[in-house]
Amino acid sequence: TTNVLWLRRDLRLHDHPALLEAARGAEVLPLFVLDHALLRPSGAARTTFLLRSLRALDDDLRRHGGALVVRHGRPEDVVPEVAREVDASAVHVSADFGPYGQARDARVEAALHVPLVATGSPYAVAPGRVTTKAGGHFQVFGPFYRAWAEHGWRAPADSDPARVAWRTARSDDLPDEPAAAHDLRLPTAGEEAAHTAWDDFRDRLSDYAEDRERPAVEGTSRMSAYLKLGTLHPRTLLADLGHDEGSDTYRRELAWREFYAAVLHARPESARTYLHPQLQAMPYATGRTLETRLQAWARGETGYPIVDAGMRQLLGEGWMHNRVRMIVASFLVKDLHVEWTHGARHFMHHLVDGDLASNQHNWQWVAGCGTDAAPYFRIFNPVTQGRKFDPAGDYVRRWVPELADVAAPKVHEPWTLPEPPAGYPAPIVDHATERAASLAAYDALRGR
Ligand code: FAD
Repeated sequence: TTNVLWLRRDLRLHDHPALLEAARGAEVLPLFVLDHALLRPSGAARTTFLLRSLRALDDDLRRHGGALVVRHGRPEDVVPEVAREVDASAVHVSADFGPYGQARDARVEAALHVPLVATGSPYAVAPGRVTTKAGGHFQVFGPFYRAWAEHGWRAPADSDPARVAWRTARSDDLPDEPAAAHDLRLPTAGEEAAHTAWDDFRDRLSDYAEDRERPAVEGTSRMSAYLKLGTLHPRTLLADLGHDEGSDTYRRELAWREFYAAVLHARPESARTYLHPQLQAMPYATGRTLETRLQAWARGETGYPIVDAGMRQLLGEGWMHNRVRMIVASFLVKDLHVEWTHGARHFMHHLVDGDLASNQHNWQWVAGCGTDAAPYFRIFNPVTQGRKFDPAGDYVRRWVPELADVAAPKVHEPWTLPEPPAGYPAPIVDHATERAASLAAYDALRGR
């Protein structure tokens, strides 16, 4: 007999519970469906990284006598078609808990003549598994984290591609990479590259608690794009962690990813709408003002160096350091008075790790309307943040060449130089003025 293994956010062959299930007494046909509904919101970075990850997976399969079957089309058409072609007994998947994935899988299941079997998920603990004593979902991270850690997770699954009897079928070609991919510096794709990057990071794990706040330093793991596509499973990472400070801090960060997935699962509408709707009534920029500000922000031309460096890193690498993501998001919402949804859409388009749950909920958090909401009145000062987290100015100078000759601390406020560097814009707004405006609007809203 043959089982189809329909791969989605699990583009790997090791630690793969659904592969283990599919291979039980059967040949396995690995299938990826190029679903245009999912590709549409992705910019060049995520699309390119996906295509390269698929190529790497195909190479890995070929080393073990298999090959990846790629088909274009709607999953509800393609998956039943392939299952019929190979006379499959079942279609195996890792469960998808996002709103689109859940609806898609229900359509596929209805169209299939054989069972759709879900084993495992992209998370160490599947969304919905950890609940409050009353059986509800957690709305705040702290208690979720304790319950999540207490619940625990399985050891890595013992899937071995060398022991699987692979089956192949006709495959469509993968599309060409978008032209813009040439200008992007992306991580190397594929399972092997993910493991190499992880092993590299493990040597730096003891410095993680401190270095993770320094955008100029390679202090974080850069695992996000691999985790997004499941080139590597968080369980694999968790199994390598110990009980030192670096490990504890890292486990907590992975838990944020799991927490936001659980929130999205419990409240799918939170991808689009405010978790705390009061803030929707703030006076946000509209029309021409909105357009001009959004454009200056997106291009990294606000005149605030740490903000511009971050936005240019996003365009150059499809990735931005977490501390800087918080700074640029706060600046958009609280200094430029642009609604978080606009910023979230720009991020989702450009991020190589763009993930609906993590992106939308982190945006909501910064905007003051999310879970654990950072209080709205805590407004980041881009100059102070720059000085604190990029004290030597190396990060700013790396991404903003106009400031290459400016030393710290002035590099974070070049407009105070006797001769501001040519070609770099003056601040688009005055932080103190906009901060006061945001606070006044917030007070007015609360007083209503
Ligand atoms: P590390 O510091 O090495 O962290 C390890 C892993 O923990 C990450 O890969 C990620 O999976 C998880 N993690 C860390 N911080 C967070 C967090 N705050 N929320 C959720 N998971 C976290 N992360 C995404 O994966 N996709 C997104 O679309 C995304 N959008 C964001 C938008 C905003 C406005 C902000 C403030 C943060 C966003 N993040 C997002 C979270 C975080 O910035 C990235 O996960 C992190 O920068 C990835 O780099 P890393 O793998 O080197 O992180």
